[in-house]
Amino acid sequence: MTRLFAGTPFDIPPECDDCGKLLSECVCSPEQKAAVAAKQQREADLLPPEKQTARVNVQKRKGGRKVTVVEGLTAQANDLKSVLATLQAACGTGGTSKGDTVELQGDHAGQVRTSLREIGYRVK
Ligand SMILES: [Zn+2]
Repeated sequence: MTRLFAGTPFDIPPECDDCGKLLSECVCSPEQKAAVAAKQQREADLLPPEKQTARVNVQKRKGGRKVTVVEGLTAQANDLKSVLATLQAACGTGGTSKGDTVELQGDHAGQVRTSLREIGYRVK
């Protein structure tokens, strides 16, 4: 079987995530194997950043505090936790990822747009 992303950063070695052995030698339980399959499916669902457009806007919440909200990137096609971690580090602030949105505390629209473009996303 040819792997779709062989030789690219998207390439996933055919090893079991639980025991680290090649899948052909893996002795993990069906539950563990199902977890591995689910992870591989999630990775197969990922879309390249350059094919996606993020929308960045600043919203006011209760008490007047501001949050920078990233929309337009789905949790299915993106590793939003990784995107969140990158944005948190770039902005020096906290945030959350919920559903298909990423939120950063405070008004960081400029930095968020810059960081998303650095990852490769198109940004509106
Ligand atoms: Zn295993």
